[in-house]
Amino acid sequence: MDIDAIKRDYDIFTRDESLIYLDSCATSLTPRIVTAKLLEYYNSYNANIARGAYKASTKATEEFEMSRKVVANFLNAQLEEVVFTSGTTASLNMIAHGLTSQISNTDNIVVTAMEHHANFIPWQQLCEHTHADFRVAPITDDGLLDTDQLLELIDENTKILALTHVSNVLGTINPIKELTQKVRAKNQNTLIVVDAAQSVAHMKLDVADVDCDFLAFSMHKLFGPTGVGVLYGKKEHLEKLTPIFTGGEMIQEVTTACTTFRELPHRLEAGTPHIAGVIASQEAIAYAKSFGFEKIREHEKELLTYCTNNLVENFGDDIKIFGPCDISLRSGAISFTLKNHHPHDIATILDDKKNVAIRAGQHCAMPLHLETLKTNATARVSFSVYNTKADIDAFIDGLKKVDEILS
Ligand code: PMP
Repeated sequence: MDIDAIKRDYDIFTRDESLIYLDSCATSLTPRIVTAKLLEYYNSYNANIARGAYKASTKATEEFEMSRKVVANFLNAQLEEVVFTSGTTASLNMIAHGLTSQISNTDNIVVTAMEHHANFIPWQQLCEHTHADFRVAPITDDGLLDTDQLLELIDENTKILALTHVSNVLGTINPIKELTQKVRAKNQNTLIVVDAAQSVAHMKLDVADVDCDFLAFSMHKLFGPTGVGVLYGKKEHLEKLTPIFTGGEMIQEVTTACTTFRELPHRLEAGTPHIAGVIASQEAIAYAKSFGFEKIREHEKELLTYCTNNLVENFGDDIKIFGPCDISLRSGAISFTLKNHHPHDIATILDDKKNVAIRAGQHCAMPLHLETLKTNATARVSFSVYNTKADIDAFIDGLKKVDEILS
């Protein structure tokens, strides 16, 4: 990959040439092709969708529905199985709340110890409200999902298994397809919900192949705008999902006596969506596809290996890296601690002294940090197509400076 050319796709690097952005797990940078599409909508056919009988509205509606086609094709899903939301968090909450009426106090719901709060709290809350049993599958010492123990938690009363495809802390890639098959062998009625927030920008997703029931991701992790998410669900399950948002555009008929809802996917898309964002998402997906996921993965593995080796060579036993050692089992993030330096201090000094942007804290995974990793916080670097080995060199140099200052 020609990274110098890729960097030129982003105005942010033109404005700030020294920026080393190593926080793509939190949000990816947005290429000009995507911001241009956002502007195209506002400047050329700014209108609400599916309402006006005039040219701009028709064009906006066509572009919006084109994005649905692009997403459906990207996921290998049917058109009506793609619902636009405001992000992964919204998608997962819509699933959990929408399933409430299908859960009773004899059921159980299984999640994993490596979930982001967005795929943990909605299920915990659902169990609290319905008195279903909330079960958390553990991870092994090397940061892998303990699939044997997970399978032991699945029984004839397991209604839902909600799990992340890739951990935003450990980088662990969970074997979703294989797990789906094994879970189905134990209970064919267990609904499998996949949080693809961290995998969507790094590997090819194929919902038909994986055979999950629901899947959620945010466009802002895939070169797209913030405020746009996707909720994929198998048609049969989306049809049974209670819409938690009701209002404009999702109805068939409203009388003072009752309301009937429209067909999929519209019944789950109440109100005016982030029209520009959804429209620009087609460009974000085209951009990701222009590299090809094999190339993206190859590049990411190279950076992961280079960064891990450099951290160990330079800091030895002082650095603790969380997650699997085998790079083939992990995706684009490395979370670490360095001596007793507080991760927030590490991130602040890196920014201040070297213009290196990394993340620090619990990364919305408090149970994982406090109960499993037994650490208060970690620092995290994460990579995307615009990162180079030189970025990692700058980060390592910066980290040496941090160590000097804090020691
Ligand atoms: N799940 C995972 C694994 C994530 O990394 C994130 C974002 N950090 C989310 C869910 C939530 O995504 P969003 O904030 O875009 O809703």
